[in-house]
Amino acid sequence: MVEFINVSKRYPNGTVALRGINLKINKGDFAFIIGSSGSGKSTLLKLLMKEENATEGEVIVNGYQLSTLQHKQIPYLRRGMGMVFQDFRLLPNKTVYENVAFAMEITECVPKEIRRQVPMSLALVGLSRKANAYPHQLSGGEQQRVAIARALVNSPALLIADEPTGNLDPENSWEIVKLLTEVNQRGTTVVVATHEKSIVDAMKKRVIAIDKGHIVRDQQKGLYGDED
Ligand code: ADP
Ligand code: ADP
Repeated sequence: MVEFINVSKRYPNGTVALRGINLKINKGDFAFIIGSSGSGKSTLLKLLMKEENATEGEVIVNGYQLSTLQHKQIPYLRRGMGMVFQDFRLLPNKTVYENVAFAMEITECVPKEIRRQVPMSLALVGLSRKANAYPHQLSGGEQQRVAIARALVNSPALLIADEPTGNLDPENSWEIVKLLTEVNQRGTTVVVATHEKSIVDAMKKRVIAIDKGHIVRDQQKGLYGDED
C-alpha cells in the first residue's frame, strides 16, 4: 500500500527533514507515526500525499510511483486517500452535508451517487442529525468527525491523519481514535501522526518513531516510549 525506499527530503532552505527512510505499510495496517515536534512526521505525510516531493529515493502509494507521477494524475492518487488534519479544514460557508458532498463533487461523481454516499458517511461518524449545521455551530470533536466523514466519502483505501486529536480535549480525542479504529476494522489502511503518548500507549498498534528525520524504531504493538 505504502513504501518508502531510501527517501530523503531537503527543503529549499536547506533543512533536511527526512533522511534515508525505508518503510513499508501494508494494506489493512494501522500505524502511528510518532516523534517530537520537528522530527519529520508531517513531512512524511506530505510526501505520501505528494504535497511535497522527495529529494532522493522513491515513495510508492497505492501502486503509484510518486517521483514519476504526472501532475494531471495527482487527483487519481488523492482519490484513493482520505486526509484529516489537526485544524479540521472544513469550509466555513458550507453546511456539514455540503462539506462532505464537496469532496465527491471535485472528483466529478454523479449527483445520484453523492446523494447516496454523503448520508452514509455522516451516519458512519454519528452526525446524521447535524447535516444542516455549519462548522462553527459544532464542537471541535464534531468538526473532526465531519472531516473524517469527508475523508471517507470516496471510499479511500488509505486514511492519513496528521495530529487529528491535537485540538481536542481528551474525551473527544478518544472518540476520534475509536472512530479511526472502526474505519481500520472495515478494511481501510490508517496512518496517524501524533505525539500523544496516552493514545499510542493505550492502542498497542504499530509504532514508527521518527527522530531528527530518521526512523529510530518500528514496532508492532508498540508503546510511545520516551522520545518526547
Ligand atoms: P513534525 O511534523 O514532526 O513536527 P515537520 O515534518 O513539520 O515535523 O518538520 C521537520 C523539519 O522540517 C523541521 O525542522 C521543520 O522546521 C522543517 N520544515 C518543515 N516544513 C518546512 C518547509 N516548508 N520549509 C523548510 N523547512 C521545513
Ligand atoms: P464541547 O463541550 O464539546 O466544546 P459545545 O459546548 O461547543 O461542545 O457544544 C455542545 C453541543 O451544542 C454540540 O452538540 C454542538 O453541536 C452544539 N452547539 C454548539 N454551539 C452551537 C450553535 N451555535 N448552534 C447550534 N448548536 C451548537
